[in-house]
Amino acid sequence: MQNGLAAWEQTAEQLHVKLSDEYFKLETGLAYSKAKISSLERLSRQHAELFLQNFSAPRKLYLDCIATIAKAKTHNSLLRLHELRKEKICVKKIKFNNAPVCWTSWRTFAAQASDYERKTVFDSFINKVKFITPEITKYFDVSRKIYSKYDINPLQVYLEDHNISAETLRDILCKLGNGTKDKFKTEFRKYTKKFLGRTPQYYDDFYFMRNIVFKDLEEGFHVDAKQSVLKSLLELGFNPHIIKVDSVDRAQKFPSPFCSFVKIPDDIRVSYKMENPLNTAIALYHEFGHAAHAITINPQLPYHKKYVLSEGLTETFSIFLENLLSDENYLVQVLELPQNYAQELVKRIRFTEHYAIVFYVANSFLKIDQWEKNLTAKQMNEAYAQYLKEWTGLDVPGQYWQLHHILPESLMYVPSYLLAMARAHEITELLKKECGKWWWANKRAGDELRTVMMQGADSKVGDFQTLDIDSYLRPL
Ligand SMILES: [Zn+2]
Repeated sequence: MQNGLAAWEQTAEQLHVKLSDEYFKLETGLAYSKAKISSLERLSRQHAELFLQNFSAPRKLYLDCIATIAKAKTHNSLLRLHELRKEKICVKKIKFNNAPVCWTSWRTFAAQASDYERKTVFDSFINKVKFITPEITKYFDVSRKIYSKYDINPLQVYLEDHNISAETLRDILCKLGNGTKDKFKTEFRKYTKKFLGRTPQYYDDFYFMRNIVFKDLEEGFHVDAKQSVLKSLLELGFNPHIIKVDSVDRAQKFPSPFCSFVKIPDDIRVSYKMENPLNTAIALYHEFGHAAHAITINPQLPYHKKYVLSEGLTETFSIFLENLLSDENYLVQVLELPQNYAQELVKRIRFTEHYAIVFYVANSFLKIDQWEKNLTAKQMNEAYAQYLKEWTGLDVPGQYWQLHHILPESLMYVPSYLLAMARAHEITELLKKECGKWWWANKRAGDELRTVMMQGADSKVGDFQTLDIDSYLRPL
C-alpha cells in the first residue's frame, strides 16, 4: 500500500502542475482553455476520490482530497461568478478611462475619484449585489454538502490545517481587535481629515485608504522594487533568478498581484501589474516572499508535504518579506530613502496594518459564523454589518462582503492573514536577536529562514496553537 501511495502522490503532482499552469494563463489574461480546465478538474476529483476509497492517512492528504473534490464540483460556479461580476457589477453613469466603472476597475478608479463618484459607485454596487448572490449561495451550498459527506465542515478542516482550536482562534481575534481598534479609529480620523477634509465614511474602505494614505509620499519613492527585492533575496543567500515574473499589462489580467506554485521548487511564477511605485513595491515584496518560500521547499519531500500547505504558513513568509518595507533601517540603508521620509512611511504603513487587523478580524468572525451557524447569504449580510460596526466603527451595508475578492469565493482563508502577521513578527524578532538589526544583510539570517521554509508542511512555522499574540501586539 505504501508503494500505492507514492504512485498516487506522483500523479497528484502532475495534475497539480497542469492545472496550475492553465489557471495561471487564465489569471494573467493569456489564451487558456476552459475545456482543459474542466477536464483537469474532473481528473483531479477522480484522483482524490481514489485516495479516499483506498487511504485514510496521511490525514493532511485526506482533508486535502475532500477540498479537491469540493473545488472541482464548484469551479464552474466560481467561473460564472467571475463573469457575472464583470458583467453586472457596473455603473454606466460614472466613467473611468472612458468606460463604465466595473468591479474589475473599481480599486484603480477609487484611488483617483471624487468623493461623490466613489459614494455613487459604492452604493450602486451594493444594490447590484443581488445579481451575484445566487451564484455565491450555490458555491457555498455545494461545498457544505460535499464536506458533510465526510462528517466535517470547511471551518473544521481549516482549524486542523492550522493546528489551532476554534476557541484559541476566537481568542486571538478578540485580542487583536481589542488591542488595535482605538488606535485605528484615531488614525482613521486623522488621515481622512488630512486627505479628504472630513470624518471617515462607510465607503472609505480598506482598499481605498491603503492607497490614499500614501498619496503625498508616492513622489518621493524612487525605488526599483523588483531590483531591490531581488538584491535582498540574493544577499540572504536565495537564488531568486529562477522565479518567473510576468509584469505585462493585459486587459484580462487579474489586477491583484499573486504568486503561483506551479511546480515546487522549480516553476514558481509571480504576476503583477505596475500601479504607483509604492504600492507595487509592497505587493512585490509580498509575492517574492511567497516565491522565496516555494523555491526553497525540499524537492525530495512527498507531494503532500510540498504542496498541501496551510494558508497561514504560506502567508507568513510573504508578510515577513513585505515587512522589510516597514523597517526604518532597511528603508534608509538599502533603499536609500531619507530618514524623515522613512519614518513617515513607516507610520503610514503601520496605519494600513491597523486597518487590516480590524477589517480582517471582522471578516474572520463572519467566516467562522458562516460554518458554525450555517448562515445564509442574507444572515451573513446582517452579521457582517454588525461586525464591521464593532471593529471598524463604520456603518457599512452588510452586502459589502459579497463584493470582496476573497470572502465570497473562498471557504475560509481570511484569518490566515492575521495568524501570519503575528508569526512573521515572531520570526523577525528572532532574526534581530540572532543576527542584529541589519539581519537582512546577513546570510546567516537567510540560512535560518531556509531551515524553516524547506520543511514544507512540516514546518513549525505553521503550528499556530503556539502563537505569541501579546508580543505581536505590544509594539503595534
Ligand atoms: Zn499572499
